[in-house]
Amino acid sequence: MLLMILLAGCARQDGAGIRSIDRHVDDRLPAAAADLSADRVVAADDARFQPLARTEHLAGAVDGRGWWRLRPEPSTAGASATHGRGRLLLVYYPYSARVTVALPPDYRPRSASIFTSEPDPAYSRRALVFPFEGDGPLYVGVESARYPLPVEVRDAHDYAVQDQAHARLLWGSVGILIGVSLAVLLFWSLLRERVYLLFALSMALQLLYVLCAYGDAYSLPALAWLGRFGVEGIWFVATSSTIVTVLFLIEFGELRPRAPRLSGILGWVGARLPGLLLIALVLPWPAYKGWFPPLGNGLLLLANLVAIVTLAVAWLRGSRHAGFVLIAWVPMISVSTARTVQLGAGIPLTPWLEYGLPLLMAFAAVVLVLGLADRMLTFRRERDAAQRHAERDGLTGAYNRDGITARLGHALNETRRLHQPLAVLFLDLDHFKAINDNYGHPIGDACLRAVVEVIRDQARLGDQLGRVGGEEFLLYLPGATLAAARGTAERLRSEVQTRCREVMGAPVRLTLSIGVVECEPRDTVESLIRRADEAMYRAKHAGRNQVVVLA
Ligand code: GH3
Ligand code: MG
Ligand code: MG
Repeated sequence: MLLMILLAGCARQDGAGIRSIDRHVDDRLPAAAADLSADRVVAADDARFQPLARTEHLAGAVDGRGWWRLRPEPSTAGASATHGRGRLLLVYYPYSARVTVALPPDYRPRSASIFTSEPDPAYSRRALVFPFEGDGPLYVGVESARYPLPVEVRDAHDYAVQDQAHARLLWGSVGILIGVSLAVLLFWSLLRERVYLLFALSMALQLLYVLCAYGDAYSLPALAWLGRFGVEGIWFVATSSTIVTVLFLIEFGELRPRAPRLSGILGWVGARLPGLLLIALVLPWPAYKGWFPPLGNGLLLLANLVAIVTLAVAWLRGSRHAGFVLIAWVPMISVSTARTVQLGAGIPLTPWLEYGLPLLMAFAAVVLVLGLADRMLTFRRERDAAQRHAERDGLTGAYNRDGITARLGHALNETRRLHQPLAVLFLDLDHFKAINDNYGHPIGDACLRAVVEVIRDQARLGDQLGRVGGEEFLLYLPGATLAAARGTAERLRSEVQTRCREVMGAPVRLTLSIGVVECEPRDTVESLIRRADEAMYRAKHAGRNQVVVLA
């Protein structure tokens, strides 16, 4: 829907303003536009021109070359009077083509292509724009076209309005791609994970490809030098973008572990072989590079196909990320495939194909950022689970020794900062060895769990419990004075005595010996635990099932 709204402003009216198109035929120089000077075409008589049935495209150039004679509709006095800017001959989507024109009133030959600085900077490079005056015939020569070029004659003002709509759409998509690449690059600068760098590079190269294929890269001062490489520069950018994107897909979609064989094939057709093609493209030998488009495009189609199959398999095997890539990539791969077919088969470019690529690239960028966020969430959950696992005791669910000492360290700092008291309880089960010996280890384990449950029931918010030995526990109470801690300890002792008389049917008669200390200014975590342990030992010596407070 959005696409349709956006596209509405850019619609061309094929062949508008043109009454007829004749193709120049020269028996002596068959279809050799380059060798044919504009002057000779202009001077040629009617017999040399053959009318074309369709008047919207410069079609029929078998090898991408030819000369045509266009007769514009007679100019209405109104159009030029209103805006006083005359009319324009427009040759759309020039891509690789070099266009030479001889136009009224002076018929002085002029040439332009997207790669050079000649096109009028007032317009985008969606079309090559040639102003003319009068109603005389227009002569257009084309070289190196890869598909039939649509032509139009339009009022300069009308075209400026349409070109604005085009620029909005293209640069809107470009803006999203730039923003996403930049954001992902910043992530990479801190996280240093390869997948972020590949993502940013892939977006940046696709962006560059769109700008080159549309010609607008060459009108930017920073990128104008790319024009030197002509259409081979576009091939280079397109192929590098494919390679980086495939590497990114493999990594982001977790394709290697989920679909090892398929991702191996993808690595070959999407990265290694295109890499070899690239090397052959930049090497001076062989000088003839015409083999590149069919080979490169064929490989691209194959890589797209393998990528979709591999992603689907990885997704079915449980990679959520492959699912994200599928949603992001399939629409884009579809249009880029359609575009490749269109280029290869020489079919005229349609608006949805023209804008599909940049818009769907922007869409893919946005979906993949969501995918990255999802990836981070997954990692965070895994990390949290691992952390929980690392600092918890598996049997009772209380913190383990490392977990409780780390927490006690933080609590100690907080206590000092807020000038509040902190009490520590050391709890040890009495004659636990005997319980194990009499009733077996499983009952012993159940006793440990039962005691932890009682302590949990009695603890306040902020109190933390850890199992620091076989049947030894540490409980700290932030904000508790010695007197308050003594009360808590007494309550715990009597609760265990009453509630843990029997565990799993065994008359275990559990009791606790508890040592209590309060944090003093010179205390460290170690000294606190040591003093609490000492207090607990005094409780043992005093006959067990006791609370001893160490002042
Ligand atoms: P005291 O009253 O002096 O503390 O005597 P006690 O038997 O409790 O102390 P002692 O340190 O001699 O024995 C501790 C016993 O705790 C030894 C061991 O069998 C038992 N124990 C340690 N870890 C576990 C455990 O994970 N599960 C069970 N069931 N028993 C454990
Ligand atoms: Mg014990
Ligand atoms: Mg013990």
